[in-house]
Amino acid sequence: MANNSKATSYDLIVIGSGPGGYVCAIRAAQLGMKVACVEKRDALGGTCLNVGCIPSKALLNASEKFEEAEKHFDEIGITASGVKLDLKKMMKFKDSVVGANTKGIEFLFKKNKIDWLKGAGKITAKNKVDVAGTEYETKNIVIATGSDVAGLPGIDIDEDKIVSSTGALELGSVPKSMVVIGGGVIGLELGSVWSRLGADVTVVEFMDQILLGMDGEIRKEANKIFKKQGITFKLSTKVTSAKASKGGVDLTLEPAAGGDAESMKADVVLVAVGRKAYTESLGLDAVGVETDERGRVKTDAHFKTNVDGIYAIGDVIAGPMLAHKAEEEGVVLAEMLDGQSGHIDYNLIPGVVYTYPEVANIGRTEEQLKEEGIAYKAGKFPFMANGRARAMNMVDGFVKILADAKTDRVLGCHIIGPEAGTLIGEVGLGMEFGATAEDIARTCHAHPTLEEAVKEAALAVDGRPIHI
Ligand code: FAD
Ligand code: NAD
Repeated sequence: MANNSKATSYDLIVIGSGPGGYVCAIRAAQLGMKVACVEKRDALGGTCLNVGCIPSKALLNASEKFEEAEKHFDEIGITASGVKLDLKKMMKFKDSVVGANTKGIEFLFKKNKIDWLKGAGKITAKNKVDVAGTEYETKNIVIATGSDVAGLPGIDIDEDKIVSSTGALELGSVPKSMVVIGGGVIGLELGSVWSRLGADVTVVEFMDQILLGMDGEIRKEANKIFKKQGITFKLSTKVTSAKASKGGVDLTLEPAAGGDAESMKADVVLVAVGRKAYTESLGLDAVGVETDERGRVKTDAHFKTNVDGIYAIGDVIAGPMLAHKAEEEGVVLAEMLDGQSGHIDYNLIPGVVYTYPEVANIGRTEEQLKEEGIAYKAGKFPFMANGRARAMNMVDGFVKILADAKTDRVLGCHIIGPEAGTLIGEVGLGMEFGATAEDIARTCHAHPTLEEAVKEAALAVDGRPIHI
């Protein structure tokens, strides 16, 4: 549909239709605002739906099933012969999941009478946005332009042999060998996908441990489990060059602390060293919107930039680059624009890594509590001692709950294990309501469930778990 069939004046124009932008647009429309959302991709949903959360989870789910059928069915008495990978079909499945989700946002826009202004948005004045040559007027502007892949100097991402996460979701065949630069969330999730499908995966990580920022014990356990699954780790190591040639990619690796370089070869290299705020061609300089030293749009606690009427949310501002963080900000900002008050507790944004086992965290890590000098008690419970985990043949990992030594209030929870991303939900809800470990321990949890491991970890805070 041509943009010129749309109105030219709005209460709110949101630039970017990722989880921050589309959720903000929907909430604002629910509150009675006349809203347009500018998106330059051919589909709505941003990084998350098109080349991020959704396609990666489709491949993680499919590859996990493939590996289970290939390697683990036998352990539970199922002989599956002739299990074969049809990568083309798996990719088609992934694409269909993406398509259904992005079409879903189009439907929601229609339902909420939100105009999709197709094309790249450029802010031309504090209440004007240009899209494909048409200028639109608006009372307020929300910048929700998200983030883009961060590269490495001298390494040319060609999305063929040297790929970013986007290329790694599209490979046409399973490489024999893959080097993943970066042992963060993307490296481990997509490294797991290709390892399960048959690639020989080596993760090169600059720091001395993977999953930077997570609880130390969890990081070590994750490293141990992924190693057991066949992924090779080169920690405290940096890649200083990667050159694609006909035969693959030639890499040079160096110890992070300096020392002798080594060479390596791989069929495919995945660069997964982080993402950067995306503000290209947005016109920020012309209207004077300030950015910080990392190129992120500067905002106050109410998402206001330094220019009146221009706001920003999601990956393009400071904070964790997570879809649910962007969504929360979208809702709170729309409500603030409606004159309501809103608040996000950034300490209670859960993080989940969708590997097997999943890794999930909320609140403070043990290292942070030590650094802040907060006295705490820790309770741990292994999935090995949980009846349901045993019945599921998924006994890797543990739940760890950290509570204030004096008040027993839960300060953090860290889980590595089956369904960790789902299990963290009850702890998050509890923490929102100021729950103590005793509150969780006294809550009746159904048996047999994985949630019982959370209850037992809460009991362990007081030294009285039942099943260990
Ligand atoms: P984005 O989703 O990046 O959307 C911004 C949109 O703005 C884009 O569609 C872009 O085309 C558009 N845009 C930019 N500039 C303009 C312009 N000038 N005019 C018009 N349109 C413009 N997070 C999770 O919480 N869970 C996960 O499992 C997860 N998995 C991920 C897996 C991968 C491989 C990647 C790369 C990311 C993943 N993330 C995950 C992170 C998540 O995708 C981001 O945090 C989230 O998408 C940020 O939302 P956003 O709305 O801020 O921006
Ligand atoms: P990341 O920040 O999670 O990890 C990058 C890793 O690369 C770090 O461990 C860093 O030490 C390492 N590194 C940096 N430079 C290096 C070098 N030269 N050599 C070797 N290692 C190097 O970044 P990511 O994995 O690219 O993910 C980007 C963002 O996307 C994250 O903020 C994440 O929150 C988001 N994301 C979230 C999910 C999820 O929630 N499940 C999934 C994917 C992505």
